[in-house]
Amino acid sequence: MYHCFLLQIFNSLENPERSWLWAILTVLVKQRPDEAYQRWFFSLIDVSFDACMHGARYPKATRLKSSPNLFEPLAVKCDGSHTHASWGVRKTHGSWKFDTADEAVYPKLLVQRMVQCVVRHLPRDLLQHTWKQFRLDVLQQTGVQHKHHPSLIQEYASIEWMPEVPQAPPCKVLQTPWPTGEKNEGENVEENAGIFEHESFFKIGFYFSPEEHVRLAMRLEHPASQFHLVPDGLRQNIFLLCTEGTHALAMRRIAYLQHMLATKKRLQEDELALRKTMPRHVNEVTAGKPLRLFRCLLEEAKFPDMQVCDIMERGAPWSGT
Ligand SMILES: [Zn+2]
Repeated sequence: MYHCFLLQIFNSLENPERSWLWAILTVLVKQRPDEAYQRWFFSLIDVSFDACMHGARYPKATRLKSSPNLFEPLAVKCDGSHTHASWGVRKTHGSWKFDTADEAVYPKLLVQRMVQCVVRHLPRDLLQHTWKQFRLDVLQQTGVQHKHHPSLIQEYASIEWMPEVPQAPPCKVLQTPWPTGEKNEGENVEENAGIFEHESFFKIGFYFSPEEHVRLAMRLEHPASQFHLVPDGLRQNIFLLCTEGTHALAMRRIAYLQHMLATKKRLQEDELALRKTMPRHVNEVTAGKPLRLFRCLLEEAKFPDMQVCDIMERGAPWSGT
């Protein structure tokens, strides 16, 4: 909660309406010697609703303590227009189970409505920006740099809309005016207002002068000193390449390849034994893949999530059942 305050982000805390947590939380907040935090906390809005109005089977009285102007539309009490499942306990697989436990999962309808509430407050192009950045991050992690990666120095010093192409300084026409008669036809005028504002202008990108460009370049940090630009493994390789040379690096790689092949051979019988114990469908899907070697190499590299080997050998477990 305190971190939400420090970061000034949307927040929402959910608990049953009559939960003891609300009282405890208030005490905890008052104990923290930070008046701004306390003011922030007491400006949060309590949104109370019956879960049955949002797709749940039970009329569970629920409260969200959340940022103002966020989840208020959800605050509806049961209007009695539907029937409820009855509360109870059931014995399944030898143990007692309370129906309330099922209700710990948010109903789909509630989730959809909460998402709608949040989306209303997000910048319109955030999603697009996020998936683009996500794609770039993923590509970078796998070592494939994308050509659309943000450039170290922007290509243009400025981009302007002008009635005609100027003779100087050096520039590039990025977009020509719209041919007359084609504009706005069948388009949502309001939505495209921003685009058509400049319909009769040229979009011009002005280059930096050589001096400006050099000045900006001097201010750049060396890529090797930025953690997020050069992955550690690559940095080590660059270091080895610079200190030992290409021949030594090639020898290292060949030696490692030989080590891998030798390990694969050593594990051959293990592999056959493992294959005999594996479920048929997993055996089929992973046919031809040396799973013992895979496990061995991951252990060698101290891979943090060794569970991936179990999944490769036993198949992915069903979750939620
Ligand atoms: Zn109801």
